[in-house]
Amino acid sequence: PQLEALISLHKPCQTKQKQSCVAQEFTLKEIIDGLRSNEFEAFFQPKCELATGHITGAEALARWRHPEKGIIPPAAFIKPMEDNGLIDDLTWIMLRKAVAFRPMWGDISRKAGTLSVNLSTQSLGEVDMAGRIIEIVHTEKLEPEQIILEVTESAAATDVGKVLENLSRLRMRGFGLSIDDYGTGYSSMQQLMRIAFTELKIDRSFVADAIKHESARVILESSLNMARKLKMKTVAEGVETQPDWDLLCELGCECAQGYFIAKPMEADAFADWIQDWERAV
Ligand code: C2E
Ligand code: MG
Ligand code: MG
Ligand code: MG
Repeated sequence: PQLEALISLHKPCQTKQKQSCVAQEFTLKEIIDGLRSNEFEAFFQPKCELATGHITGAEALARWRHPEKGIIPPAAFIKPMEDNGLIDDLTWIMLRKAVAFRPMWGDISRKAGTLSVNLSTQSLGEVDMAGRIIEIVHTEKLEPEQIILEVTESAAATDVGKVLENLSRLRMRGFGLSIDDYGTGYSSMQQLMRIAFTELKIDRSFVADAIKHESARVILESSLNMARKLKMKTVAEGVETQPDWDLLCELGCECAQGYFIAKPMEADAFADWIQDWERAV
């Protein structure tokens, strides 16, 4: 119903927006149709403890199962959704689908597995976003401590005050809060530093730089030390090779995510994968 209301508000793709739609190869109408036909779903990518190899959780990543074009990654639809007021719809689809799936990997891992969900700062600026997230998690009988909300400062927040209010409420309830893409221009997070984030996620470009340049390595090591002093968990994303893994271990990073461990997988494949992995480590 909320989506219907939004669609009725939409004017056809305007010049500036049209360019971004065309560049992404999908028109706004196609994206809206995809939302209405329930073609968006959550894939899952595991996160693993560097010291032991155990899985500590997984991140839900949006995919569009297009009837003709196959699996479409977020690069093709997040920006147009943010630009056209549709990102909230994706946020709710992802929260509902990911949270509903979480019980399926239950106690498989020895560590209490956390589920990470990406939130656009645009959605976090909505009134009572926190209340609605709390409700979804409660309905699925999960504990807030099992959920980590990943925040990237890529979209201009409509209302920074609201973002902070929602985030502090969620944190007080016990949700984990993660600063995503740390090390890119998007993660200044000055405003958000007022919130007690629980996790720092190192962007994969930062990991790649640290492999190549001594200076990047020093900066990364200091960032990891800073996070530790702030009692934040550290996670490196984009871990693709054994040398990446070894360097992160050496620099004291706690967790890793990346193709070296596994690519994002469909929900069903993930449940099997995690069992095989935990049996092996
Ligand atoms: P992110 O949250 O930083 O997610 C990590 C991205 O890195 C994912 O791309 C993942 O597939 C990719 N990745 C993981 N390991 C590796 C690796 O070893 N090598 C390489 N080259 N890439 C790796 P993906 O799935 O295409 O998502 C891109 C971005 O889209 C995400 O970045 C996130 O910012 C956004 N996104 C994804 N799902 C959602 C969602 O449900 N809501 C919102 N608001 N944003 C989302
Ligand atoms: Mg993320
Ligand atoms: Mg990231
Ligand atoms: Mg990223």
